[in-house]
Amino acid sequence: MPEGRIIKSLSGFYYVLHDGQVTQCRGRGVFRKKKVTPLVGDEVVFQADNELEGYILEIKERKNELVRPPISNVDQALLVFSAIEPDFSTVLLDRFLALVESNDIQPVICISKVDLLSEKQKQLIEQYAEDYRKIGYEVILTSTVMESGIAEIKPLFENQITVIAGQSGVGKSSLLNVLKPELELKTNDISISLGRGKHTTRHVELISFGEGLVADTPGFSSLEFLTLEVEELSHCFPEMSRLSEDCKFRGCLHVKEPKCAVKQAVENQAIPAYRYEHYLQFVEEIKQRKPRY
Ligand code: GDP
Ligand code: ZN
Repeated sequence: MPEGRIIKSLSGFYYVLHDGQVTQCRGRGVFRKKKVTPLVGDEVVFQADNELEGYILEIKERKNELVRPPISNVDQALLVFSAIEPDFSTVLLDRFLALVESNDIQPVICISKVDLLSEKQKQLIEQYAEDYRKIGYEVILTSTVMESGIAEIKPLFENQITVIAGQSGVGKSSLLNVLKPELELKTNDISISLGRGKHTTRHVELISFGEGLVADTPGFSSLEFLTLEVEELSHCFPEMSRLSEDCKFRGCLHVKEPKCAVKQAVENQAIPAYRYEHYLQFVEEIKQRKPRY
């Protein structure tokens, strides 16, 4: 049986990409009984009635599942943060990073609009970029006006499912617009069948970028730690997670415990104070979260 990936769902049809082609599929009763609804991003086994139509028979196990937008098997999140207009916010970036990490998704940080910076402002942004690179994150500085950094973004999409996330106004659409002409140069049936721009409701679609797929709807629109537990939070801060073995107490939350390797690293400035402050802020937020019944 052929296998493929759902790249779009509309009016009860699932559009399955396989071998560079798209087959319009319906769901078969069998998995409907299991109450599993196919999601964009799902890897599926299907039966083709002809070249264009078929039935989905099976949904493979999901690696992860986002609620807004509804999409599964996301590998990577491109977090777009403007250097200015709106101002660069490390607390918002840390929030996005923790949420992305908690979903088992690899973050990549894009700092946009760097053409608008003065030399002095640029130095500060470069310093932040270094801080995040030291944690292990890839950080790319971009300008759609100067078309700089764009060439570094493109290869990141290869063989990955990527969502783009970030506040409104940071330049997510501008970035895709600069990246998109390349896509349209290709005689690619998929991009035509996607009918970009026609849909008014917020249906998520995966758009082909070479051998990669990018969601056309921004991810992580809800920025609350709804299901994350306090014990899990430090695992979403890789530089803290790496140190936790050196803390005196197993399960150290790095808050008030003595002989905490994380607090030591903050004192030594191996971990920037602002990262740790944001961590503490999120700990409080999770603790104060109302129980969900
Ligand atoms: P989105 O809401 O994240 O999709 O942001 P948009 O792509 O709509 O961009 C918001 C505004 O920022 C628009 O006026 C863009 O022209 C502008 N913008 C986006 N990227 C850049 C950039 O790299 N440099 C400059 N100077 N302006 C940019
Ligand atoms: Zn600790």
